[in-house]
Amino acid sequence: MTRPFNFSAGPAVMPVEVLEQAAREMLDWNGTGMSVMEMSHRGKAFVSICEQAEADLRELLAVPANFKILFMQGGGLAENAIVPLNLSGGGAVDFVVTGSWSQKSFKEAGKYCATGLAANNEADGHTSIPPASGWRLRPDAAYVHLCSNETIHGVEFHELPDLAALGSQAPLVIDFSSHVASRPVDWSRVGLAFGGAQKNLGPAGLTLVVVREDLLGRALDICPSAFNYRTVANNASMFNTPPTYAIYMAGLTFQWLKRQGGVGAMEQRNIAKAALLYDFIDGSSFYVNKVQPSCRSRMNVPFFLRDESRNEAFLAGAQARGLLQLKGHKSVGGMRASLYNAMPMEGVQALVAYMREFEKEQA
Ligand SMILES: *Cc1c(COP(=O)(O)O)cnc(C)c1O
Repeated sequence: MTRPFNFSAGPAVMPVEVLEQAAREMLDWNGTGMSVMEMSHRGKAFVSICEQAEADLRELLAVPANFKILFMQGGGLAENAIVPLNLSGGGAVDFVVTGSWSQKSFKEAGKYCATGLAANNEADGHTSIPPASGWRLRPDAAYVHLCSNETIHGVEFHELPDLAALGSQAPLVIDFSSHVASRPVDWSRVGLAFGGAQKNLGPAGLTLVVVREDLLGRALDICPSAFNYRTVANNASMFNTPPTYAIYMAGLTFQWLKRQGGVGAMEQRNIAKAALLYDFIDGSSFYVNKVQPSCRSRMNVPFFLRDESRNEAFLAGAQARGLLQLKGHKSVGGMRASLYNAMPMEGVQALVAYMREFEKEQA
């Protein structure tokens, strides 16, 4: 069966092998006579699925032993509240705003702590990363928050800041929803990372949190118990019923990633995929990407037709060729191609071939 290429920003494309395996196991997982959806989360079968998923993820992302991996719910947006409820102590927290997602985090956290804007790229339309040397970091900040890949604006940190070298003692919190597992993570620079699964790990419903152990136990009294990181960690993500089927699907994706050669191998492919598309756009006078080349996202490529009156025709032609969900986010307009791990090189080649053809046709 040939499937179209799905460029959705999320929920997004999943590896075909993973979907096929899930289909095979739908009615009877491993001789249990049950679908994973029908199992007790505390039973032997599901506990083994969950433990395997955690171990595989720890291996893939090289998560150090002093970090906990938590499987939660609520998505990235819930974490915008859950993180300050757990880590802020109600005090100062600094935000680096580089696009819509960090902007949302900044705004939500204001309900729970004394937010400060360390840097903001709004003036250039969220197309750059302000140099870390100029960030206004407060000495009493409980943590510093940034979004390491801005899904909507297509801005990615290719290197995480070294806050200690900038004279800050604060742990760094990253929202890595849309590029988790697309590249290695430098955990020496991170205190907590969170991400919804539906971009690059599996179906919606699962939220991944990776948190350094010394940051547990700081939650405000008003923090809901089910969202208290220490409570979740002490109960191996089973304080309440976790999103069992989403964990199972993410686990299958982790095994797929291991078969692909791991996150380092994925990164090399992702570099090649993104380069193909950006090089084509930059070489064209018909399409444009406005993000500074040094911080362009490998995962989410927003681009525009210089003549926007042709947008509808572009999207219709793409759809007819099996190139799906290319419409840009409503706040930015234009187009967006998301090139997550499960998007093969062939998909990017097909997109570039179509873009070239469309340009010729319209000339
Ligand atoms: C998609 C996304 C979110 C929001 O995730 P939800 O699961 O919808 O809450 C947050 N941050 C980033 C970077 C995202 O890409």
